[in-house]
Amino acid sequence: MAQPETIPAPAPLHLSSHLAHSSPSAISQTMMAVAERKSRGHPVLGVHVGEPDFDTPQHIKEAGIAAILGNDTHYTAMDGSPELKDAIALKFARDNDLTFTRSEIVVSASAKLMIFMALFATIEPGDEIIIPAPYWGSYIDIAEMLGATPVVIATRPEDGFRLRAQDLDDAITPRTRWLLINSPCNPSGAVYEHQHYAPVLDVVARHPQVWLIADDIYEHLVYDGVRFVTPLQVRPGLRDRTLTVNGVSKAYAMTGWRIGYGAGPEELMRAMRAILSQSTSCPSSISQAAAATALRGPQDAAEDYRRQYAQRREIVIRELNSIPGLDCVTPGGAFYAFPSWKTLIGHSTPYGERLDTDEQFCRYLLHDFGVAVIPGAPFGAPGHFRISYATSPPTLHEAMTRLRTACTTLTAKR
Ligand code: PMP
Repeated sequence: MAQPETIPAPAPLHLSSHLAHSSPSAISQTMMAVAERKSRGHPVLGVHVGEPDFDTPQHIKEAGIAAILGNDTHYTAMDGSPELKDAIALKFARDNDLTFTRSEIVVSASAKLMIFMALFATIEPGDEIIIPAPYWGSYIDIAEMLGATPVVIATRPEDGFRLRAQDLDDAITPRTRWLLINSPCNPSGAVYEHQHYAPVLDVVARHPQVWLIADDIYEHLVYDGVRFVTPLQVRPGLRDRTLTVNGVSKAYAMTGWRIGYGAGPEELMRAMRAILSQSTSCPSSISQAAAATALRGPQDAAEDYRRQYAQRREIVIRELNSIPGLDCVTPGGAFYAFPSWKTLIGHSTPYGERLDTDEQFCRYLLHDFGVAVIPGAPFGAPGHFRISYATSPPTLHEAMTRLRTACTTLTAKR
């Protein structure tokens, strides 16, 4: 057929209303600012990155290589290979005293995707999702992308940033669909022990319309001899409305392998399977083989990483709390510190710029001291900033020295 002589200019791209609220996350904005500075030849001390700086343990890498060489390179079942599901069931039994069958388990290309799918499967516009702050910003972004209303409950430093049962009770309405709880928490490091979960879960139990997502991705990063618990260990009666989400990214330094998983009621898992079958299908067969080895195999590397994070935490928290104007709750888990700089708000830099927002403070740290951290406001807790101690002790020492100079150089408002 003859080609038309001219092809009309394209109509403007119509973006779906799902994307009405979407904007680059605070983390990706910091990443871009850091990349821009580095490209101009300025070195940056990065204490902003939320992923392990360690390498994936050797035996796990070898399992991935063996999968390639053994031609384990085909589609698997949509929701994960039986081998990986069995390794996940074993992990739940070994670490959490929980029993799940294959049909109650779904594997996907990340813990993030598990949360996205759970909400995609269940949310109608205007449904409410309760999210304690400070929170991982993706919870809000995913909820809003799906037309849900995030209902944010502020937690307090004096409560170790843990949710109060009464505050939860006050926030629940007939439209509440989910409570999203993350222990250990990104960014605060808050850890819920049995006695912290019990009253919160009793409130959930009293409201049958409320389901629970337990984001346990930092499970293996808990300090001070505290034993990690997941909500279903504390209130097994919530099993029919709890999705327990986890993954291999943080514990085994496997962020790039992209494997997350969840366990929950069969009806919900069936819905997630349907979403997978029309989106990603199965995650990488190679990553699945490596993840199965990570979960089943020796856990010493994960334990070694945890010990190293614990030492780094000591450095960071001791230093932060000795810097005038900063105040940091000791995080019980994960690899973040979340100091408050509230008493410095409104102070001025030597160039006379007043620092009123977390963004301005973080920009000052990056531009004048070459230290990259993330503002607290996008985590739902203005007046704070997030430091990741998933980086080497020399980098942490140097970052703390510069942070001290940055804070002591500010002058009080007149
Ligand atoms: N939950 C929380 C609280 C996180 O911080 C992250 C990663 N930053 C995830 C889930 C996602 O982990 P992944 O997608 O790598 O499995």
